[in-house]
Amino acid sequence: MPLRAKVATSVSKTAAALSRAAGRGDGSVIGGWIGLKIDPDLLRNLAAGRAIALVSGTNGKTTTTRLAAAALGVLGPVATNSFGANMPTGHTSALAKAGSTPFAVLEVDEHYLARVIDETNPRVVALLNLSRDQLDRAKEVAMMAQMWRTALAGHPDISVVANADDPMVVWAARGSSHITWFSAGQRWTDDSWVCPESGDPIERANGDWWCTGCSLRRPQAQWRVEDDGVIDPRGDWHLVKLQLPGTVNLGNAATALAVAAEFGVRPIEALPRLSTVASIAGRYAQVDRDGRNIRLLLAKNPASWLEAFDMAEQAPTLLSINARDPDGFDTSWLYDVDFSPLHDRPVLITGERAFDLAVRLEVNGIPFRHVLSFDEVVRSVPPGRLEVIANYTAFQDIRAELDRVN
Ligand SMILES: [Zn+2]
Repeated sequence: MPLRAKVATSVSKTAAALSRAAGRGDGSVIGGWIGLKIDPDLLRNLAAGRAIALVSGTNGKTTTTRLAAAALGVLGPVATNSFGANMPTGHTSALAKAGSTPFAVLEVDEHYLARVIDETNPRVVALLNLSRDQLDRAKEVAMMAQMWRTALAGHPDISVVANADDPMVVWAARGSSHITWFSAGQRWTDDSWVCPESGDPIERANGDWWCTGCSLRRPQAQWRVEDDGVIDPRGDWHLVKLQLPGTVNLGNAATALAVAAEFGVRPIEALPRLSTVASIAGRYAQVDRDGRNIRLLLAKNPASWLEAFDMAEQAPTLLSINARDPDGFDTSWLYDVDFSPLHDRPVLITGERAFDLAVRLEVNGIPFRHVLSFDEVVRSVPPGRLEVIANYTAFQDIRAELDRVN
């Protein structure tokens, strides 16, 4: 590396360590920020010589990144931004901290994918899904798909691993010359009723979809979920044992296996490593408190709330909503979520925007109880499972109350 990059790397690591020591989170954002101030090409310099996979999409990217990093671990040390710092500052910090690993798997915010592709020259880019998120500031879904399409068009050598079930992803990816399609299912379809190519309606039936006005249609998937396992491109079925709940995580595992396969890792080698992943920055963590087994599910937008309802057991469920900067200030998306799966279980609500949630639940005819503290939650449900579904900062608040569970 050039001398400036070496100095920037060293300062970046020190700043991150100081920030951690001061109790200000994991320090990756400040570390990366300082490193890039000293050497604006630092990410490019740190990425050089590594085989890199990028993982992007609206939902599931932190989990899929973690699973793909675990799978690639078969080959050697893997650098990764495991704390969800998914912008170039976080990538810079993760690579600086990891030292000279041969591999890296990086989670990338959808908006930054073009820039991070340019700077890291990845071998593989995995595209998971696109749906509405952070309504006050995020781009419209079709605009994001267009940005991805343009980004990939400039890099024909990249192997793209993309979700065949999401029309927006398929449209963004299909110009690439090396594509592996996976099928992870798509519960949320309300952002892809209109074809981004021709503007005609998209129709769906039995897991298939097609545009009624042009050639855009669901491609054949080489990797797909079946029962509690994954089918690989040769047609072999592999049992997938995960500690993470839900069909959505089987889909994330299929994606991770497809990414790892691009580096030559076989499913049979990767699968034991996937089963060791228990929680990801608190997501899916389980905590026992006064006889209650509390499970934490992070859900930030309509698509991820639908998945969370699918994962949650028939048990008392706490919903918590904040609207701080990382969450987005606009909570009107609550009206895009169908809360009727919660009809037959006790529902508690909390968080700074609990009253937005209250109005929404009333419209949906769901009885609920408003609680002010986590202790009150624990006291008001019987011993046994308690599911917690919270958006980003509400999730962090609850984690802090539960002593920073992992
Ligand atoms: Zn069309």
